[in-house]
Amino acid sequence: MSNSEESLDGLRNRTDRPMRYLVAQYGRTNLSSLVLGGVMTVLGAALLSIPAFVLGIALDAIFRQTRPFTLPLVPNAWLPGSVMGNFWLTVGIVSTSFLVAAFAGYIRGWALNRVAQDVQHELRTDTYEQMQTQRMAFFDDNKTGEIMSILNNDVNQLESFLSQDLQSGVRIVVTSLVIAAITVYLHWQLALVTLTMVPALGYASYKFQQSIEPKYGSVRSSVGKLNARLENNIGGIAVIKSFGQEGPEADRVADASNEYRSANWSAILSRIKFFPTLVLITAVGYGGTFALGGYVFLQQGFGLFTLGLSAGTLVTFLLYSRRLMYPMRQFGQVLNNYQYAYAAAERIVGLLQDPDRIEDRTTGKQLARVDGGVEYEDVTFSYDGEETIIDDVSLSVAPGETVGLVGPTGAGKTTLTKLLMRLYDADEGTARVDGHDIRDIDVRSLRDHLGYVSQEPFLFGGSIRDNVSYGVTDTTDDAIKTALKQAGAWEFVTDLENGLETVVGERGVKLSGGQRQRLAIARAILKDPALLVLDEATSHVDNETELVVQRNVTEISDHRTTFVIAHRLSTVRNADRIIVLEDGQIVESGTHEALLEDDGLYADLWRVQVGDIEALPETFVQQTVSSADD
Ligand code: ADP
Repeated sequence: MSNSEESLDGLRNRTDRPMRYLVAQYGRTNLSSLVLGGVMTVLGAALLSIPAFVLGIALDAIFRQTRPFTLPLVPNAWLPGSVMGNFWLTVGIVSTSFLVAAFAGYIRGWALNRVAQDVQHELRTDTYEQMQTQRMAFFDDNKTGEIMSILNNDVNQLESFLSQDLQSGVRIVVTSLVIAAITVYLHWQLALVTLTMVPALGYASYKFQQSIEPKYGSVRSSVGKLNARLENNIGGIAVIKSFGQEGPEADRVADASNEYRSANWSAILSRIKFFPTLVLITAVGYGGTFALGGYVFLQQGFGLFTLGLSAGTLVTFLLYSRRLMYPMRQFGQVLNNYQYAYAAAERIVGLLQDPDRIEDRTTGKQLARVDGGVEYEDVTFSYDGEETIIDDVSLSVAPGETVGLVGPTGAGKTTLTKLLMRLYDADEGTARVDGHDIRDIDVRSLRDHLGYVSQEPFLFGGSIRDNVSYGVTDTTDDAIKTALKQAGAWEFVTDLENGLETVVGERGVKLSGGQRQRLAIARAILKDPALLVLDEATSHVDNETELVVQRNVTEISDHRTTFVIAHRLSTVRNADRIIVLEDGQIVESGTHEALLEDDGLYADLWRVQVGDIEALPETFVQQTVSSADD
């Protein structure tokens, strides 16, 4: 099982009775619509059962005149005495029942769909908000697609269950109960025969759903494969043509299309068997009711069927046995979708209830201003609880100091600064800002004073202005311009046709890596934080950007505590102090000159960068080569 599955399972396991939780959370705010929808569903089902009942009475009392015209619950004095009067009353009752049922159906649809829409909206926004407060480890463990799937598919699954299946389910139950009650009241012996249709239809529908579901799964997967192949081939058409692969590619598309056709055909075969089966079951119930009821009517009872039966009651029974078919055939689908909705609810509620969020673990000290003193005391950390990444690091940084962090790739430089931002919490030891344990500071307040330029700067779809002023309210064009200048980005921004308003495209695709990096630096400068972390990109950065950053580090880091994670040692040459990390431990520390003099790891790294490989000790070369092979 992959890591991500484990962690999503983790979400699931935390969740006890997710549906109950959702009803408690979201049912209350939508209670009035829910009750209205429920009442209208019951009312509609009850109203639609009236015509068959009244028609049965009318048949006996008006057309055959074998009994007087009476209606249950209605005093006889209220009924018209004449046959025509009774006839028109029957017409009135039947048409009014349909009319009011239609109206109830409208209100039901309005109320329940409203609930479904409101709940899905609230659920999605709540889940999104909770997701944002998750520890970074959550995002390491769960793939983007999986998190998206909770926010999209799972929420939609619940929505469609609420707006469709819940109604169907209530209708199935109410219709069956109302028909059962009336038929038992009219002739309980015959009712036993007619009502066997309910479990029979339910079972058939359930079985159908069980068998068709995996087939729908194959249809979905084969259509996915077919689409992927088509997309791939259209994208790669130049390669296909240049290699003369049109024939084989056409065969591959034909194979994928064929797979889809077979999967679909198999699903269709199940489906076309299902509806005749339903008709057969209904026919058996219907025919059985007619044969048995007719015989009871003609004989006025026989064997176990001791109760007499009127022609009208028989008609009522026949009409009811037809009415059972429609809702019951959805039974399997409702059950099935309930299972899907339940699984979706488990994942959603798992996310909503996740207790392990860093944000919730803070006692929330607010820091109005920060001088920038940073202290790591015996800090140890590992991502997975096994491999130690930061190993008992102690480091004290004075306000305003510029610290270069260097060391081999994977030494833990980035991780050390992530702990400061509380993207992760240390396993042991304490990190402090201005003497406050960072775990005692409100996370948001802490991050307000922090600026971070990551190795892979992320730009949001939007203009350059939006991206640079991200998270900063009340800024001016002048401030943006200054920040861009300090980051060495002003020149290329003014060269763009739309300047600050240039839309950078979804992933900042319209800009080069170096340009993106410079915009990210400008973004951090504009925020003007007391603590700044610059994680120099290993790739992407062109020489020009490197130069700009180098030249500006002094200016950028002025008046603030700055950590510069450098892969190019020249970037940190002028830092107040350079810390050399190796395997999560601080192995050297001092100024550039002092470290060169010490002739240790830093001096070796420096010689690599200035190209003086001859002067490197053999042990260093061996170590580097073998770790690169890992
Ligand atoms: P550096 O910045 O010195 O190159 P990092 O701090 O990025 O090193 O990484 C240190 C080690 O931690 C590496 O071995 C890396 O594979 C591991 N690591 C980094 N990020 C994660 C993560 N999110 N989950 C698990 N391991 C990680």
